[in-house]
Amino acid sequence: MTEAEVLTIFRRSGALLEGHFRLSSGLHSPGYLQCALVLQHPREAEALGAALGGLVRALGAQTVMSPALGGVVIGQEVGRALNVRAIFAERADGTLTLRRGFTLDPGERVLIVEDVVTTGGSTRETIDVARAAGAIVVGACAIVDRSGGKQGLDVPFHSLLPMDVKAYQENECPLCQQGIPVVKPGSRTPKS
Ligand SMILES: [Zn+2]
Repeated sequence: MTEAEVLTIFRRSGALLEGHFRLSSGLHSPGYLQCALVLQHPREAEALGAALGGLVRALGAQTVMSPALGGVVIGQEVGRALNVRAIFAERADGTLTLRRGFTLDPGERVLIVEDVVTTGGSTRETIDVARAAGAIVVGACAIVDRSGGKQGLDVPFHSLLPMDVKAYQENECPLCQQGIPVVKPGSRTPKS
């Protein structure tokens, strides 16, 4: 799957919002990605999972592990593509942890799967959970890499779509200067 094909899937699902957005960081941006809007469509989710699976197959993962909630759906699909089990870690009292009876064996080869990697923080946290259980983290992957190559992971990392969406301080925002109204993502129904 090419980057253009991934972008087409995002646009078709209304998941790549183009306009003028105030991000949770407070920065203004002409673009916003909402992976859940793609992954709500099982066929699209399956296709993205198969494409990611193709990128990471050689890592020889025995289990896929994702951080909840964002990574759960695509983790399941990568697990399907690799024909391995897919588990997830979730927060309990602020700490990412394995619950629901999920376990990893010492030496088990684990692949971390995310929807979007921005700073790499939640990926690193998930890697730590797997290592604390004695597993070997063979790599990590995400549908979208917004890190600009700065995710700083100590395992091989693959993505389907490296994406560098600009973000501006409000007082430097060219969209504000053009008088375009700013919206908070999710505050209205996106157009596809
Ligand atoms: Zn603005």
